[in-house]
Amino acid sequence: MKTLIKNGLAYIEGAIVKMDILIEDTRIALIDNDITADADEVIDAAGMHVFPGFVDIHAHLRDPGQTYKEDIISGTRAAAKGGFTSVCAMPNTEPVVDNIATVDYIQRRARELGFARVFVIGAITKQSAGEEISEMATMKSGGVVAVSDDGKCVQNAKLMLNCMRYAVNYDLPVIIHAEDYHLAGKGQIHSGKIATQIGLSGIPALAEETIIARDIMLAESAKARLHIAHITTAKSLELVRRAKEQGLPVTCEVTPHHLLLNEEACLSFDTNTKMKPPLRSEKDRLACVEALKSGLIDCIATDHAPHADFEKVREFDHAPFGIIGFETAFPVLYQSLVLPGIIPLERLIEAMSTAPSKLLRLPESGIRKGNPADLTIVDLNQSSVFAAENILSKSKNTPWLDQTIKSKIIYTLLDGTFTFRAE
Ligand SMILES: [Zn+2]
Repeated sequence: MKTLIKNGLAYIEGAIVKMDILIEDTRIALIDNDITADADEVIDAAGMHVFPGFVDIHAHLRDPGQTYKEDIISGTRAAAKGGFTSVCAMPNTEPVVDNIATVDYIQRRARELGFARVFVIGAITKQSAGEEISEMATMKSGGVVAVSDDGKCVQNAKLMLNCMRYAVNYDLPVIIHAEDYHLAGKGQIHSGKIATQIGLSGIPALAEETIIARDIMLAESAKARLHIAHITTAKSLELVRRAKEQGLPVTCEVTPHHLLLNEEACLSFDTNTKMKPPLRSEKDRLACVEALKSGLIDCIATDHAPHADFEKVREFDHAPFGIIGFETAFPVLYQSLVLPGIIPLERLIEAMSTAPSKLLRLPESGIRKGNPADLTIVDLNQSSVFAAENILSKSKNTPWLDQTIKSKIIYTLLDGTFTFRAE
């Protein structure tokens, strides 16, 4: 099986260049100026961009246990529609991924039925309850790529230190959802002027920052690789900057929503602006954008968090935190950060593909001869509409619902096979 992609603008080794790409079976066989080959399918990508398939290291596929929100099939189909070829599944499913059987289940389902590579992140503690260390050794032998109690946060520093020591033994990075429960309390949105104005209880920036400071110190002591999920505040970024300057293996990610929205979005009382960590101040948002640009923030992750309508369409106080992200991530970031010239296209692509795969030591991504043909082909001049009927996720909880956004994913290929074709 041969597929030839002609005349596309390809992201290769950090630059965007006009190149033809020949795929043979599952791999990239040739990259050259002008390829003529007998191919089974020729894609004329003139005027389009060819990127490495996007890699999302933070997603919730809700399978097993909450498949009314999403499952491995719907989740990976949605991922493919968003240009993603690899996703990492967070362990807060039912049951929690704290054992080898659940790791095996997810990997088997994904291999048999998935539209993307699925890498499993195991829990740090049993049931992510923050009380006992999970079965890291067997989970590692079963293929988990990291450990995290995402959605929750290990509150006990002594236990967290032990967990980090374990993780070092099994060469697993530790991904943290930084949230001090006492400081966060029953907060609904960022503790700031909007919370005061509309009378909702706040989640202070400090709830995130104190845990980041603590876990950097614990990781330094344990010699652990620490990755901070969905970072949101200027002070958090300052902590990461200092850790990096000391040469510690500390990395972080940011979500599209924290890059593009601030606390003022909550004035709408739209529960699709309710996330954890919450949308922060404009100053924090701008700090995140700047840190993405400079590389202080290593990569972008969606924190794709599907919730059903009956859960999200209710009073703000009672709605769950989180929004879906696979299908909107690239278009909204392209429209709001690249088009106005705030972030170069090349940096956005790196932060969505090669950087995250390197960070979690996933199989090498990037358009290079011999690599798996994991690609996404995007038309930056067309537009996409996030109407509920077009969304492939089972859940439709996105603040970008019904918006028309510049750029459109046209094809996604995984191992040389089309996992998505735009209509
Ligand atoms: Zn989280």
